[in-house]
Amino acid sequence: MSLTRPEAIIFDVYDTLFANSPERWQEAFSDIAKEQNLPYNGAELWKRWKVFEVNFRATRTNMEDPENNPRFKSYEQAWGECFQMVFDEDKIDGDAALAAKRSVEHMANRDPFPETVEAISKLGESFRLAIFSNADDAFVRPLIKEHGLRFESVFSSESARIYKPHPEAFKRILGKLALPPESCWYVGDHLWDDVYGASQAGMQTVWINRDGREFDGRIRPVQEIKSLLELVTLSAE
Ligand SMILES: [Mg+2]
Repeated sequence: MSLTRPEAIIFDVYDTLFANSPERWQEAFSDIAKEQNLPYNGAELWKRWKVFEVNFRATRTNMEDPENNPRFKSYEQAWGECFQMVFDEDKIDGDAALAAKRSVEHMANRDPFPETVEAISKLGESFRLAIFSNADDAFVRPLIKEHGLRFESVFSSESARIYKPHPEAFKRILGKLALPPESCWYVGDHLWDDVYGASQAGMQTVWINRDGREFDGRIRPVQEIKSLLELVTLSAE
């Protein structure tokens, strides 16, 4: 199976268009610990918090029974609950809501990959471009705007009230574009949220695998790439 020329290309954001490393998270958590005088360094607080956050990610979407999805929570809300669980366990009087607010602010501040701006600008000359990001509006929208990236539609999980890989997430953006799934490429770094989700929705999938990870997903992407500029070449074929 190979890609066929799309009507639209839909992108994930974090680790697809913008780098989002654990080191950046730890910086944010170091600032949070300092601001509130908490007894952790950034790496320690992030590690403690991440246990709860991973559980949130694992349980927020019911792919076995998508009709019975848990009630939607934004990242800010879920992250605040994760901070509260750390503070409760460690009997610390921290401000979980403030820590969550700072995390959201930090996520609005990430660097695009070196080729992101050029690739999006070139693809925009020939294709309709859109975004579906598992993100709160408060961080994903300023990020896209700051770097002058032009997309016809930007959907966040917060605005759609649903997280990828739930099929409804993909239906929402396809509905907005008024396109059948097979005429769209979905480009993302995450094998479960992006490749599995978009393929279940019937889209053509592109896995951006910048650091040469082993494939360990359920469904093979139609195409694997290392740089967004490969999309320019592939879409011209
Ligand atoms: Mg991603």
